[in-house]
Amino acid sequence: MDSGRFCLVLILSCLISGVVSQSILQILPENRISGDRKTLLRDDDIFCDSWRFSIETNDAGIWYNIPARCVKFVQNYMLGERYASDSDQVAEDSLTFANTIEITGDGKDAWIFDIDETLLSNLPYYEIHGFGSEVFDEKTFDEWVDLAEAPALPASLKLYNELQRLGFKLILLTGRAEFQRSATEKNLLLAGYGNWEKLILRGASDIGKTAEMYKSEKRKEEEEEGGYRIHGNSGDQWSDLLGFAMATRSFKLPNPMYYIP
Ligand SMILES: [Mg+2]
Repeated sequence: MDSGRFCLVLILSCLISGVVSQSILQILPENRISGDRKTLLRDDDIFCDSWRFSIETNDAGIWYNIPARCVKFVQNYMLGERYASDSDQVAEDSLTFANTIEITGDGKDAWIFDIDETLLSNLPYYEIHGFGSEVFDEKTFDEWVDLAEAPALPASLKLYNELQRLGFKLILLTGRAEFQRSATEKNLLLAGYGNWEKLILRGASDIGKTAEMYKSEKRKEEEEEGGYRIHGNSGDQWSDLLGFAMATRSFKLPNPMYYIP
């Protein structure tokens, strides 16, 4: 090969190898990612775990139905160790924060608790109603509330008692209606809760308000009229925690069964 042809071959091979490596760089990772994503999406457990992440973080915003392929996943989550473990973690984080608060002793250092799926667990009801996958039926749920048989969520009961020991005043703020007051009080006491500062339920003037608006207004009243300093707020719905007059720290408990705006 003469030197001219050798140079031409060398230049051509450099160009070709550059094009090929660039193509590999551009195409291979994309193919690999999209291939993996497809594989992941075929796996219900991984898909449903990602779905759960998106609804718990509120990235998903308002959602209405558990994806059909995730109903079994939600059942396993709620009945298995993970729900209890996640709830324990939330309670532990809450207590770590609570321990940083200096209780003044004037009786105005407050912590707010939601009730359903926060202090009390309606799991016995949802177990026979598809773990939230069925359309919500107010009549049968109200009948369940009347029984006053909902057990405590163990992690929340422990936190509740610890907060009282630290000197917090506990305000219970629930979406349940006034007519359910006595059944709710009875259930709370049977489940081991006691000595709450206040139990606030939806009254006639709260009908038609979103949970977020109703709960924000009640927190504001407690701050402005009650003089409470709301340090912490525990709830399983973002509507328990967001809005205005928010607590210094809000703690979201897990609930992949339903969403209340
Ligand atoms: Mg709740």
